[in-house]
Amino acid sequence: VPSSNATIYLTFDDGPTPEITEWVINELGKHGAKATFFCLGKNVVTYPHIFQKLTSQGHRIGNHTYDHPNGWRTPLKKYIQNAAEGSKYIQSNLFRPPYGKITPQQIYSLKKKYRIVMWSILSGDYLQNLSIDATLREMKKEMKPGSIIVFHDSVKGAANLKRLLPEILLHGEKMGYRFEAMPNA
Ligand SMILES: [Zn+2]
Repeated sequence: VPSSNATIYLTFDDGPTPEITEWVINELGKHGAKATFFCLGKNVVTYPHIFQKLTSQGHRIGNHTYDHPNGWRTPLKKYIQNAAEGSKYIQSNLFRPPYGKITPQQIYSLKKKYRIVMWSILSGDYLQNLSIDATLREMKKEMKPGSIIVFHDSVKGAANLKRLLPEILLHGEKMGYRFEAMPNA
C-alpha cells in the first residue's frame, strides 16, 4: 500500500466540459499531478474525446450520475437508475453524489457497487463573487495529508478554477505534497 502521508487528492466534478477540462488536464500535466474526475454520463456522451484524454493521461474517473439529480429530492429507484445510466458510460467503482446530497437508503444501495467519495475541502469555485484571496488562504490552511479537494470542471466554475488551481498546485509542490488519483481501497 503506497503511503498517503504526503498526498493530496484533487477531484473535479461535473465534466467533461470543452471550455475547461482540457485546460485542467494541461495544468495538472505541468506539475506531474494526477487527479480524479467525477464525470456526468450525459457529458461523456457529448464529449467522448475529452473523456478519453482523462484516462489516457493517467487520471482516474468516477461516476457522478447521468445528469446530476439531487438525492434528497429523488426517489430511491429513480436515483439508482440515474447512477446506473451514468455507469454505462463511466466504468468506475467510485461514486460521488451530486451536491453531496444522498439519503441513507441511496448510500446503502450504492455501497454494494461503489466506494462513495465525499470531500474534505470545498473550493467554492462555482460561486459567483468568490474572493479568490480569501479562498486560497483558507484552502492552504486546511490542506493536510490525505485531503480530498473538490473543484468543478464546469462552465460555471471555470473562471474561478483558472485562478485557484495553479496556486494550489504551486503551494502543494512547495509543501512537498504529491497530487494523486484516488486509490482503490
Ligand atoms: Zn456535481
